[in-house]
Amino acid sequence: MTQGMNVKNLKQRNKSLILYTLNDAGEISRMELAARTGLTPAAVTKLTAELIEDGYIRENGAVESEKSGRRERPLSLRLEDKYILGINAERDGITFCICDLAGRALKKKKTPLYEDIEDVLKVGKSFLEESGLVVVAVGVCVIGSPTEGFAVWKGEGLDRRFEETFGVRTVIENNVRAFAEAELIFGDIRDHSSVLFFKWGPGVGSSIIANGRVFSGGEGNVAEIGHYIVKEGGRKCRCGRRGCLEAEASSDAIREELASCDESDRKEALMRIVDEKLKLVAPALLNTATILNAQEVVLFGGMFENADAARRLNELIGGYFGGFKRAKVSPLNEKRDYIGAVAICAQRSFFNAE
Ligand SMILES: [Zn+2]
Repeated sequence: MTQGMNVKNLKQRNKSLILYTLNDAGEISRMELAARTGLTPAAVTKLTAELIEDGYIRENGAVESEKSGRRERPLSLRLEDKYILGINAERDGITFCICDLAGRALKKKKTPLYEDIEDVLKVGKSFLEESGLVVVAVGVCVIGSPTEGFAVWKGEGLDRRFEETFGVRTVIENNVRAFAEAELIFGDIRDHSSVLFFKWGPGVGSSIIANGRVFSGGEGNVAEIGHYIVKEGGRKCRCGRRGCLEAEASSDAIREELASCDESDRKEALMRIVDEKLKLVAPALLNTATILNAQEVVLFGGMFENADAARRLNELIGGYFGGFKRAKVSPLNEKRDYIGAVAICAQRSFFNAE
């Protein structure tokens, strides 16, 4: 009995290994796949046949192998004909999106941030019905922890509510963690063992990749950089404390400050305020990167749409600590309102499918 289960797990792990290898490699032959995974050619032939049958990978047109001179039909992932419904919560609203598992958005809709989960389910259902598309999974990216703390939607059985409504598997994850997952699948940081993600927008948050995986703390949430105290007795934060980085430096806080300032030159006032906020962000980011010995710091969020923000942040970080590498804006930043949902669905329902 135990042995049977182990064999099954091993087979599943090997299938998952094949899928991740194809994700990295693009289109490759079975021989190359065997070489890269360390599996025997016989095992690769057997497992890929099953994966083709189940619609996870495809066989492409025959090409002549450079090594053997034989005609081969190389393999690649089959992600673009599988759709998911992504529901991404941000402090300034929700993005509903139908995307394929390759990361392409087909339809999108933005709404205010409904606090009542019934509204989310209702709008999501009619959005999906209008599209006429069939989805294989639903990915929900929430603010904070999906089960604990100060999340907007939380509680036991939240995933069941979605599954009852949509009739497919639902994956719920913190929005910053989901984005880090996206970077592992679609981005270019796979070789790094320690990466710090920093999000700066209406919410401020962070996430960590350790040894090739998105790191989980006690309740799944770690590195809540947005709740570092950066100003004693500062603004009240949604976590209940005062002076958190998010409360002090989010794009909402910036907008509020700008609205109440009486300078005649708005553009100049905005630049001054943003620079003040960058001076709060830089040490928080640098301290966290230092404790992690991060090889890479990846920036994303609305504040980094302006290239000056990343440039100035690097200037400030450079001033604090000599040898630190440049923090880079994520290549996925433009897809930030849906790519996390795609990634968590791809990860749980495709790459590691049971
Ligand atoms: Zn806080």
